[in-house]
Amino acid sequence: MAKENNPNTPKKPRFSSWWIYGVVIALIIGFQFFGGSSFSSTEKTTTSELQEFLRNGDISKIVIITNTRQAKVYLTEEALNKDVHKGVAKKPLFPSSSLMPQYILDYGDLQIFQNEITEIKKENNLDTIVEFDTESNVLGDLLLSLLPFALIIAIWIYLMRRMSGGAGGGAGGQIFNIGKSKAKLFDEKTDTRTSFKDVAGLEGAKEEVQEIVEFLKNPDKYTSLGGKIPKGALLVGPPGTGKTLLAKAVAGEAKVPFFSLSGSDFVEMFVGVGASRVRDLFKQAKDKSPAIIFIDEIDAIGRARGKNNFTGSNDERENTLNQLLTEMDGFGTNTNVIVLAATNRADVLDKALMRAGRFDRQIYVDLPDLNERKEIFEVHLRPIKTAETLDLDFLAKQTPGFSGADIANVCNEAALIAARKEKKAVTKQDFLDAVDRIVGGLEKKNKIITPEEKKTIAYHEAGHATVSWMLEHAAPLVKVTIVPRGQSLGAAWYLPEERLIVRPEQMLDEMCATMGGRAAEKVIFDKISTGALSDLEKVTKQARAMVTIYGLNDKLGNITYYDSSGQNEYGFTKPYSEETAQRIDQEISKMIEEQYQRAIKLLADNKDKLTELADRLLEKEVIFKDDLEKIFGRRPFEKEEEKLEPADKLDDQ
Ligand code: ATP
Repeated sequence: MAKENNPNTPKKPRFSSWWIYGVVIALIIGFQFFGGSSFSSTEKTTTSELQEFLRNGDISKIVIITNTRQAKVYLTEEALNKDVHKGVAKKPLFPSSSLMPQYILDYGDLQIFQNEITEIKKENNLDTIVEFDTESNVLGDLLLSLLPFALIIAIWIYLMRRMSGGAGGGAGGQIFNIGKSKAKLFDEKTDTRTSFKDVAGLEGAKEEVQEIVEFLKNPDKYTSLGGKIPKGALLVGPPGTGKTLLAKAVAGEAKVPFFSLSGSDFVEMFVGVGASRVRDLFKQAKDKSPAIIFIDEIDAIGRARGKNNFTGSNDERENTLNQLLTEMDGFGTNTNVIVLAATNRADVLDKALMRAGRFDRQIYVDLPDLNERKEIFEVHLRPIKTAETLDLDFLAKQTPGFSGADIANVCNEAALIAARKEKKAVTKQDFLDAVDRIVGGLEKKNKIITPEEKKTIAYHEAGHATVSWMLEHAAPLVKVTIVPRGQSLGAAWYLPEERLIVRPEQMLDEMCATMGGRAAEKVIFDKISTGALSDLEKVTKQARAMVTIYGLNDKLGNITYYDSSGQNEYGFTKPYSEETAQRIDQEISKMIEEQYQRAIKLLADNKDKLTELADRLLEKEVIFKDDLEKIFGRRPFEKEEEKLEPADKLDDQ
């Protein structure tokens, strides 16, 4: 059964709607044969023969069918025994054929026909009954009345087939397959060639999933000591960190059937389909056990139940989740089916899903650190033709905060940039351009900027650079540019420390550096501009977090309004009073204002250096750490690791 879901196996229709069409056609044909001529065993006769039979007194009744211009002729009992009528008398079609006429004829003109009969009857003094009737075609009428229903059914079947994705791909998506799981099956026959070698870094996570592969390959090793094989593992982490990749590697290495699907594959517009698909998925997996089920983006169905369902619209999702919970409980450990799932949002998942016995293990897949980035570069540089031996340390340093997916993108982008420049191989500069492109967006050389605007941008960026240079805890600067890119008109790039905990003074210094742009405009031109929008957004968020999340504000004290369960996403009710709301607003505003004034003071005290830096920026458009060192001298707070070159994170104008 599972074969049906194997992408390599052509799907066979289980149930064809053609039989319905067949029945309709058969009925129509049947109607043509029988409906139109219910007295088909009756013999045809002519008007002259009829006149003769009539004169002989053989006819008991004539029924004139006015709408078909035919007449049915019924013989008397005696006439039936006559030789001349032998043929018709011995050929009854139905047992009730006494009701059947023995002859039928096309009479032509009704008036003439009627006159002839009346005349013969009068001449021979006959009491033959003459009746008038119309022929109704019962079967034809029935079919006609059924036709609209048949049409509706045919259209419905057609739509169902389309909806379940089968119309284009053969007979795969029959209506009766709608409740079937959409999982793709990878097994030894499928050529998925992802292995653990393709997954760089993530040592801890790799070890854990490798163990899962081991469980499946060699269950006795674990169960012989009384241990139980885990039922599921949840891969949790930010987007692009390699969760799906890790699962694919498991598929490649485990050499057991691997069912892969996304949480949203359970969702359909019909009630009950999700639950039915979950049942089917587990049934297929159990049939093929030992097997692995991988559900990507499990939050699509795994969100905590009973939340945000004012409208009751989540019922279907809840049913699906309930079914998943039941199935995960339902199979014994000896069935050897392990469920892997991935999500970016473990915080919103239902607690029941996370408990031991379901997803026994949670594997955190974090953003890569310096060494891991280096390894990821190694993996993605494999297919790329580079001009020189690249310094991977340098590249890894250029990309703090990048996920594996970002790094893959940098490598690809660098190759594209080199190809655009008609180069034979990719150079280091192409990689740097790719990083700039990914962080800042596409360079906009043709953007029209007036000299005055350019000057403002230069001072704004120089303001960021100067303040961050002078503050101990601000991230060290790497590069300042006034080349417009993406949405930004200029940018200051920093090398942020990869900190695990952050202190208030560090956050405040960063806020001060962010306000340095607007402060420089104020100090130099005594005017401010809209250019600081993204800076303001950033500091406001930071200040709000300090006050309401991290409890870092003296006035509000050690309190947080953060709810890690995601239960209160500040929908209709705030978790604090109106009065507290006002105090929060005041504290946020005070904090930002203080940092702004601090930046203004710093820049006013160093106005000459700020001007020198801005002038150099106007002249060169891009300046690096060395240029700053020439103006300001060596940064007093420089740490050892910063001495190595360059870049990241941008602070837009
Ligand atoms: P999402 O949560 O958005 O689904 P994800 O964590 O599942 O993201 P993947 O789809 O696994 O991320 O990663 C995307 C791509 O990034 C991979 O195809 C791979 O090219 C690259 N990548 C990510 N992490 C790594 C890694 N550790 N080693 C090598 N390549 C990686």
